[in-house]
Amino acid sequence: MTVRIGVVGTGAIGRDHTRRINQVLTGGRVTALSDVNPDSARSVKADVAPEAEIFATGEQLIESDAVDAVMVTSWGATHEAYVLAAIAAGKPCFCEKPLATTAEGARRIVDAETARDKRLVQVGFMRRYDAGYRLLKQAVDRDIGPVLMVHAAHRNPTVPPHYTTPMAINDTLIHEIDVLRWLLDDDYVSAQVVFPRRTFHAPGDLKDPQVVLLETAKGVRIDVEVFVNCRYGYDIQCQVVGEEGIASLPEPMSIVVRKDARLQNQILTDWKDRFIDSYDVELQDFLNAAAQGTASGPTSWDGYVAAISSDACVAAQEAPGAIVPIALPARPALYD
Ligand code: NAP
Repeated sequence: MTVRIGVVGTGAIGRDHTRRINQVLTGGRVTALSDVNPDSARSVKADVAPEAEIFATGEQLIESDAVDAVMVTSWGATHEAYVLAAIAAGKPCFCEKPLATTAEGARRIVDAETARDKRLVQVGFMRRYDAGYRLLKQAVDRDIGPVLMVHAAHRNPTVPPHYTTPMAINDTLIHEIDVLRWLLDDDYVSAQVVFPRRTFHAPGDLKDPQVVLLETAKGVRIDVEVFVNCRYGYDIQCQVVGEEGIASLPEPMSIVVRKDARLQNQILTDWKDRFIDSYDVELQDFLNAAAQGTASGPTSWDGYVAAISSDACVAAQEAPGAIVPIALPARPALYD
């Protein structure tokens, strides 16, 4: 069966995911496109989805009989309404992060999905599909005994002038918030943010770097350095300290050069390159589940917990040094 996919939002990631489905992956075809900017949808059609029909609105696309499953890749603030519409139509839906821009919005999606008692939503937390993180999870589960601590870092070379201090949580740390919960099979109970000396390179009044300290229900202590003007590259680090050993996220593959009395490895500079393969694996998982009329991978519940946890981290930014509790409601059985 070929799953007919409708894409809502044909900006950078919508275009790239459309290309993946039509040119790289198997089992799906993009048959419908919609964007607030129709020229953008027309350009994606011309370049990578020649047979796609262009719809005036995302709602019309979702309701169309020519669409079996929906991909929501529009601006974050629009995600909730489109995902709710896909659930109402009973169609599997891949939603780029964030699932919703508020925890209440994400809860509405959880409630709509649990009311149907069927998984329909996959959230675009692609690091769970990264080969390096999957190897790290194997080591955490099998080799290093109970986990005691995690040391992580999320470094970007630069950020645009409109990037704000809360974006360091909502747009940057959000990936660690999800992947570390998955890696440890644990939930957060508190968050604290401390600000080191500010880098001269931070634009405007952005507080950069920052250190986010998370505590989990099992008592694991996590420190994540978020440093988005580090200059030298896009660098994701994760070291898990267990009772019996220490496991670290592998570095991306790179050619080792011996030259001029130096031993050198290249460091990536663009985030798009760092997890490029994981997007393919993530979307193939979506297509495979959609062919069965359901969804797999990161759930609406994961999107909801990420929203609650990131709200606590933003509150912790606003009260530097304070420990902000994170309380989660009971998890519906659908997500066990
Ligand atoms: P982008 O290039 O700005 O694309 C967003 C697109 O959605 C734009 O074409 C925008 O049109 C369109 N749009 C806005 N409101 C809409 C609406 N009501 N209905 C339909 N389309 C609408 O942004 P992007 O980089 O592709 O990001 C899109 C989403 O993917 C964001 O939520 C982002 O966080 C997420 N993302 C995730 C990853 C990841 O690593 N998982 C990476 C990149 C992006 P206009 O330009 O005309 O406003």
